[in-house]
Amino acid sequence: MPNGPSSARPALLLPASLACAALLALTGCSGSGGDPSTAPTSLLPLPGPGEEGEGGGKDGADGSGGERPGEGGGKPDGGPLAGTTVLIDPGHNGGNADAPEEINEQVPSGPGEKKACDTVGAESASGYPEHEFTLDLSLLLRDRLEAEGAEVVMTRTDDDGVGPCVNERAEIGNDAEADAAISVHADGGPESGSGFHVIAPGEVEGNADIVVPSARLAGLLRDAYAEGTGMDPADYIAEEGLDERTDLGGLNLSTVPKVFLEAGNMRNPGDAKRLEDGEWRERAADAITGAVVDFLTGAEGDRP
Ligand SMILES: [Zn+2]
Repeated sequence: MPNGPSSARPALLLPASLACAALLALTGCSGSGGDPSTAPTSLLPLPGPGEEGEGGGKDGADGSGGERPGEGGGKPDGGPLAGTTVLIDPGHNGGNADAPEEINEQVPSGPGEKKACDTVGAESASGYPEHEFTLDLSLLLRDRLEAEGAEVVMTRTDDDGVGPCVNERAEIGNDAEADAAISVHADGGPESGSGFHVIAPGEVEGNADIVVPSARLAGLLRDAYAEGTGMDPADYIAEEGLDERTDLGGLNLSTVPKVFLEAGNMRNPGDAKRLEDGEWRERAADAITGAVVDFLTGAEGDRP
């Protein structure tokens, strides 16, 4: 989190922003803690060949220990999300199916727990894979969040790699000190079941600080997604599209507010038709963006 509690108000930070903008070309203006002038930058540096982290993570997990990219992106300051950082985590990866040893490696997934590095993901009956969907939607979401002024960090930006592992996906958001983090998935639920759901972290040892804000993000996302996409909350999940789990490493290991979006059920024909529709995905990205803006600018005063 780049800003202290309740301090992240762009108006208060504007003078620093202007000063920094003038210096940006010389200094990059990074590392000053919550500096909103750090121009939105889409990517962590991709590791070069042979630099993959352990466990097969290939994309984005640069292991640089929390340095955020601070170079200017040529984008002006402004927008409701100026000064914020959002982590987008497109689930799975296109190379996972061909790398069973890497993705089956056991990695930390919570206090005293281990789990497979990653999984292959679901697929629609027509063969549209979840890993492709999650990246398609995530890239639309990235563009929209950057347009609102956020700095966006992605856990991967292509669909032919392996991983990153679930623990690395959490670390990337933690290292970025993201103000909000969203893992994008689509479910492989029962064929007869339809609808989306949002998963918030249940409390495990060490994550107490993120449970309440993550639940707030989950509720905002559930409401915005239902309204914006016209998709109903999942009829095979108990709580009106909201679930809480303690078995997901990506949530258990997060130190920043985080949710998983299961954007629909790929095994359900009606949901799959929507998930496969590029225009529908744009509406979904709009809806998610609205929820993030609400979360990070909400007047309720409990911004994490
Ligand atoms: Zn998934």
